[in-house]
Amino acid sequence: MKALAVDLGGSHATCAIVEDRAILHSHTLATEGSKGLAPWLPLLAEALQTVAREAGAKPSECAGLAFCFCGLVDHASAKVTSTNAKYDDAPDLDLRGWCEESLGVRFEIENDARMALLGESYAGAARGFEDIVMVTLGTGIGGATMIQGQLLRGKHSQAGCLGGHLPVLFTGRRCTCGAIGCAEAEAAGWSLPEVCRSTRDFASSPLSKENAITFERLFHYADAGDQVAIEVRERCLAVWGAATVALIHAYDPEIVVLGGGVMKRASTILPYLQNYVNEYAWTPWGKVSVRCAQLGNNAALLGAIPLLVGPPDS
Ligand SMILES: [Zn+2]
Repeated sequence: MKALAVDLGGSHATCAIVEDRAILHSHTLATEGSKGLAPWLPLLAEALQTVAREAGAKPSECAGLAFCFCGLVDHASAKVTSTNAKYDDAPDLDLRGWCEESLGVRFEIENDARMALLGESYAGAARGFEDIVMVTLGTGIGGATMIQGQLLRGKHSQAGCLGGHLPVLFTGRRCTCGAIGCAEAEAAGWSLPEVCRSTRDFASSPLSKENAITFERLFHYADAGDQVAIEVRERCLAVWGAATVALIHAYDPEIVVLGGGVMKRASTILPYLQNYVNEYAWTPWGKVSVRCAQLGNNAALLGAIPLLVGPPDS
């Protein structure tokens, strides 16, 4: 079965045609510098027509268009509900109408974290599982949840995707969401510089000489034996461990899939989290498997078929 897919990120839009678990053709447009989504819609439709033609298919032969959006969406009404200073016009757009008019196919929309989970469950690290928590570690901490083969969405489309805002420290830092001690306020790309600066002896660490403190730099200096970097690294691992256990207790998954740029250091993070989960998660039925996402930037596109036609039978 074929499907059209759009993965709309903060600075790019990838238009693709997929067939089952393979991406047949794709085109990526750079959307940097443009605030709105409306000017891009004709270009997206054109790119989708092009990739279909390259695959020797007509849009009408596809199961529909799966649209992955980098903000909050209401899947049922196919509307964007909240944006993050990018594509601010999206909540006012009739995307379903645009799709039917320009491509003549069915339209479904979901946010990027849920699309990535769908992709990983269909074609990646969580294939064969129906009870899945996905966590993406990057500038923030995102995620999504599937229970018994169904994406968890909830009344306001926020269910299962706010793992980064689980409190791990009630005396902790103020988060961008307004709460205190969220996992991402204690251990994510945006909060890492402040976490480092407030660590004892920071001034003596080579981290203090860096223009930008990133996880890549943190792991680098920790590997080299810098005590401040080691202390912050261990603290971040513990934060992610606590958040992972909280997610397991909340959603009863069989598997936790970790993605995002920070997982370049999966060799450090995965064994730590698996041990942490084995020790602290209350799962008398067995052990939750902690794995690394496999599909990278392709995950959302490969979520197109399950979004449009539902979970596979096997
Ligand atoms: Zn928060």
